[in-house]
Order: sequence, then structure tokens, then C-alpha cells
Amino acid sequence: MYADVHLHLYEAPDPKKLVAEAREGGITLLITNGENVDTSRRCVELTDLPGVYAAVGIHPSSSNKPYDRSVLENLLDNDRVVAVGEIGLDAKYDIDMDLQRRVFEDMVSLASEHDLPVIVHSGRSYREVADTLFRYDVLADLHWYSGSLDVALELAQSGHFFSLGPASLKGGKYRALIDELPLFQLLTETDYPVRIGGKDNHPLRVREVVEHIARVKNLPLEETRSAIYNNALKFFGVGP
Ligand SMILES: [Zn+2]
Repeated sequence: MYADVHLHLYEAPDPKKLVAEAREGGITLLITNGENVDTSRRCVELTDLPGVYAAVGIHPSSSNKPYDRSVLENLLDNDRVVAVGEIGLDAKYDIDMDLQRRVFEDMVSLASEHDLPVIVHSGRSYREVADTLFRYDVLADLHWYSGSLDVALELAQSGHFFSLGPASLKGGKYRALIDELPLFQLLTETDYPVRIGGKDNHPLRVREVVEHIARVKNLPLEETRSAIYNNALKFFGVGP
């Protein structure tokens, strides 16, 4: 079995069909991530589908729109909500960084208050994202991390996790990350529906990611697959 711990299922034309195709290929755990209050609510509705759990939160690209924190708090009371995400910072957005910081910290404290992990976007701001996480009592999954190896190792040292997706198949700096990060802190994701490397995306692509990790780390495929799947169960506190 495999896990896709970061996708946006509400973007699928037919989420039920996508989940069925994923399950057919062994992807039995899917964490759909919200970007604002509306999509977070949508994610919670989609947890009716088998193996689907939700993360709710305010994405940095939505940080310039007001949101009602109490709605998110209510969503967090649902047993199928297992994280606060997708949250973070991204210097590429034309949104004031102070505003992004305020929303990010609000989301991190929300997770900490509810004793839940966070799923974090760290585009062009990984140093600051790391420093923020270090100030809170919270466990993070760094999604599609593309920062420096040094900061990744600091984060790993503090117990944080990394979800790798199809972009990591490209090699380069991702290869060094896979090589250096401990297997017990790795997770897999696709960020569906984001197109990666000019290809359509699909939760099934986590299989290629697992194969790639096994190759780079020179470990048996089955051992790699089961370790990463179990990391996901443990990280999100869900049953098999
Ligand atoms: Zn995403």
C-alpha cells in the first residue's frame, strides 16, 4: 500500500473516480489539503470516500483574504481531519510577507492548540519557514521542499518530515535530499492536480516516487514502500 499525503482532491472532475483508480493501484491513504475556508470544507466532505482524510487551512496564496478561524476550528473537530494544511509562506506571491507571516503563524498555532501536525509550503522562504516551525511545539511535513540541504537537515534533526512528489524524480538537489534524509522521515505526495514535468498528475505517481527513493537509497523496494507507508500512518495517526 501507498500514501499520497498531499493532493487537492476537490480539483478533480470526478473525485470518486480518481480515488477508485488510486485504490486500484494500491494508493489507499489520501490526504486532501484545503487552501481556504471553502476548499477546506470541501476536503472534509470528501472524507466520505474510502481512505480519504483531510487537512484544513489557509494557503499563503489566500492569505490576503479574510477568513473565519472559528469555521476552521469546527472543521478540526472532525475525526477525519488529521492535519492543518496547506499552509506556509511563498515569496513569489504578490502578497505582503508580513501578512503571509501572520496567517502562517495563526495556522501553526491552530495546529498546536489542536495537537495536530501541519503540511507546509515553503516556496522561496524555507529558512524563515524553518525558523517559524522551531518556535512552536508542532510537527511538520515539508511538502515539495526545494530549499537547501542544510536547512532540510536542521528540520530533520528537529523531527520534521518531508513529502516527496514527482518533481523529486528530476534528480539534482532532490537526489541529495533523498540520499541524506532518513527513510523514517520521508512521505510521498503528488500535489495533484499540479502538472509536473509537462505531465498530467495522478495519485498513482507516488509509486514512481517510492521506486526512485528505493533506487537512490539503494534499499529493497518492498522495505522502502512499507517504511514510507507506515511513516504516513504514524505521522497522521490513522489506522491502516
Ligand atoms: Zn498543494
